[in-house]
Amino acid sequence: MTVDSVPLNTGAKLPLFGLGTWQVKDETELTVALRAALDGGYRIIDTAHLYQNEHIIGEVLHEYISSGKIKREELFITSKLPFVAHAPEDVANCVESQLKALKLDYIDLYLIHCPCPFKHQEGNLLPLLEDGKLVFDEKTSHMDTWKELEKLYHAKKLRALGVSNFSAKQLEELYNQAEVKPSNIQVECHIYWPQEHLRSVCKKLGVTFTAYAPLGSPGRKAARPDGVWPEGDPLLEPVVQQLAAKYHKTAAQILIRHLTQHGISAIPKSISPDRIIENISTFDFKLSDEDMHALDTVPTRIRLFIFDFAVGHPLFPHDDVDETTTPKSGFKLH
Ligand code: NAP
Repeated sequence: MTVDSVPLNTGAKLPLFGLGTWQVKDETELTVALRAALDGGYRIIDTAHLYQNEHIIGEVLHEYISSGKIKREELFITSKLPFVAHAPEDVANCVESQLKALKLDYIDLYLIHCPCPFKHQEGNLLPLLEDGKLVFDEKTSHMDTWKELEKLYHAKKLRALGVSNFSAKQLEELYNQAEVKPSNIQVECHIYWPQEHLRSVCKKLGVTFTAYAPLGSPGRKAARPDGVWPEGDPLLEPVVQQLAAKYHKTAAQILIRHLTQHGISAIPKSISPDRIIENISTFDFKLSDEDMHALDTVPTRIRLFIFDFAVGHPLFPHDDVDETTTPKSGFKLH
């Protein structure tokens, strides 16, 4: 299956589709999934320091590149800086450790994972906790971190820079000050949380847009100690089910095509080889304008990822979330 792409402001191309890997830390599961994905035509692999799986991804990438099955330049590897490593003295060391784990000389797209920096423990990158709570790093600004990333961009270790979970305002402020302009933003985006304002700002700035949780992240509950998340399942939305029947596709395929047809890069996670192939098999049909509109205008609006662990942080990005709207359940790293 050929995957469409969009240009980045670096001149490189961003595929409009790839594999998410959040919550996959089992070596066998992830290795099976990555082989199915790479064999099936996936070229984006999305990971992060926080996912604790870069070393497994590194092994599989090495297997494919060293055997000549895939050339390095065909791949598009995205990874992210953890929120405990924003301090200027931590950035380069963290990126070096990620390159080593991934067995790569460079990362295609590197994102600041979360706009809210936190402190880490002495001597490692584990979060510092006081009374069971993360400790804000109120000293480090986005530009302090970005300047370090710019050095790694100029050293060709990071081939494009971007941000994740930033608000439109935070993205614009960074864009205006940055010497190396952000190339991409990765945020929650699906039919229930379509991010119209942020998408229009990205269009104006020439920043590409990646949707995480494109299927509504049905497996997200496993990531919380108490399973408390806002409710919502786009896969079960009646209009999605109707369009699946009309186009002879699955609900997941309709949700993915809706995003990619808008020029949004979608990175659904799956560990099932069948679903991995199902999810990429979405560039062989087109939704009509009327059906795109029906998906654009479903009445439900729910933010599924509320980042309650960062509520109260001076750089908290979401105007619609505060102490009164968040379930309190603490923070679980993985
Ligand atoms: P998602 O991709 O919307 O949903 C993944 C879930 O859907 C898994 O439970 C998966 O189960 C299931 N699934 C996959 N294909 C399916 C299909 N065809 N039919 C039915 N169910 C299907 O959610 P996500 O994993 O939260 O987000 C995707 C990726 O975005 C992540 O993996 C990660 O790489 C990235 N992400 C980034 C951030 C950030 O802060 N930047 C936050 C969240 C996610 P199986 O595995 O069993 O198939």
